[in-house]
Amino acid sequence: MHVPRFWREIPNRYTLIGTKCGHCEKIFFPPRAICPNCRRVGHLEPFKLSGRGRVYSFTTVYAGPRDFKDQIPYVLAIIELEEGPRVMAQITDCNGEEVKIGDEVEMVFRKIKEEGEEGIIYYGFKARLVRKKEASDPSGKG
Ligand SMILES: [Zn+2]
Repeated sequence: MHVPRFWREIPNRYTLIGTKCGHCEKIFFPPRAICPNCRRVGHLEPFKLSGRGRVYSFTTVYAGPRDFKDQIPYVLAIIELEEGPRVMAQITDCNGEEVKIGDEVEMVFRKIKEEGEEGIIYYGFKARLVRKKEASDPSGKG
C-alpha cells in the first residue's frame, strides 16, 4: 500500500502541498509540523510545490503487491523535486528502459489502484517523464 499518508490531509488533491520553514527556508514534502533544523524557532507554512523534478534513483519492479499486478512491470523512482524534497513515486507511461537518472519528470494525478469488489478507486501522484517535444502539451494525457 503506497498511498502516502499526506494524501488524506491535503485539502486540494490536485496540488502538491508541502511546508516551508520561515526561519531556514527549507521546504518539506510531505508536510511537516516541526522543522528538524530549527525546532521551535521555525514556523512552518504551507507551500505549493511546482511538481517538477528529476529522477534521483529508480528501480523496475517485476513482482509486486497484488494490488499492482496489472501494472507490472513498473518503475518506482525517487524524485528530487526542484524545491529540494525527495518523494517516492511510480513512473507512469513508460516501459522502464527509457528511464535514466537525471531525467526530468513532472508529478501527475493518476489512479493508484482499484478495489474490485467495492469499486473504490484510489488516486495519487505519479511521476511522468517530461519529453522535450511534448513539454508544451497541456492536455495532461499520455
Ligand atoms: Zn527551519
